[in-house]
Amino acid sequence: MQVLTIPVTPFMQNCRVLVCPTSRIAAIVDPGGEPEKIIARLTEEGLKPKMILLTHAHLDHVGASTKLGEYYDIEIIGPHKDDLFWLEALPMQSQMFGFENHAAFLPSSWLNDGDTVEVGKLKLEVRHCPGHTPGHVVFYEPVSQQVLVGDVLFKGSVGRTDFPKGDAAKLKHSIESKLFSLPNEVVVHSGHGENTTIGYEKATNPFMSGRFG
Ligand SMILES: [Zn+2]
Ligand SMILES: [Zn+2]
Repeated sequence: MQVLTIPVTPFMQNCRVLVCPTSRIAAIVDPGGEPEKIIARLTEEGLKPKMILLTHAHLDHVGASTKLGEYYDIEIIGPHKDDLFWLEALPMQSQMFGFENHAAFLPSSWLNDGDTVEVGKLKLEVRHCPGHTPGHVVFYEPVSQQVLVGDVLFKGSVGRTDFPKGDAAKLKHSIESKLFSLPNEVVVHSGHGENTTIGYEKATNPFMSGRFG
């Protein structure tokens, strides 16, 4: 699986484009804003996306979904239904994040733990990882051993849990059961900042070692 990274919004959110190397079919993950920038990159790469996938419903991850969905005439898929309240609260999130007002929207379908999303010949495993938000999901591609984790896990850190319905204990459990159960070599693509690996975070992440409870 090829992964292109397009940082968007003042939060430098890593919008990702997943490309099946065999079919060149692509999916956009977490288009948080700046739709023109995302379209320009896709055009430059000669890619026509087939779907939009969302890890969770924070505005910096979903802000360009409606525009890109209309532009490419493609469906928005995910996150898990427990993030519905965040999508309904998009106008409030616009104020909270200091963004231009954004209307609420609904995806074409929600995702559940254990679902498989097909992008060309790629098969992405969906894992429900509540904690940062209750409906957060991650996408694991086992052949190339890469996982897109949104705001669940970062290099040397974990997602915030001080937002409404955030839950630190659940986040820790999600990371332990759904991410640290993956092979050490798996490359972790986070919603913000650099990539890391499962093994590196298992060995060094201070939030998971008990040092920060
Ligand atoms: Zn978030
Ligand atoms: Zn984020």
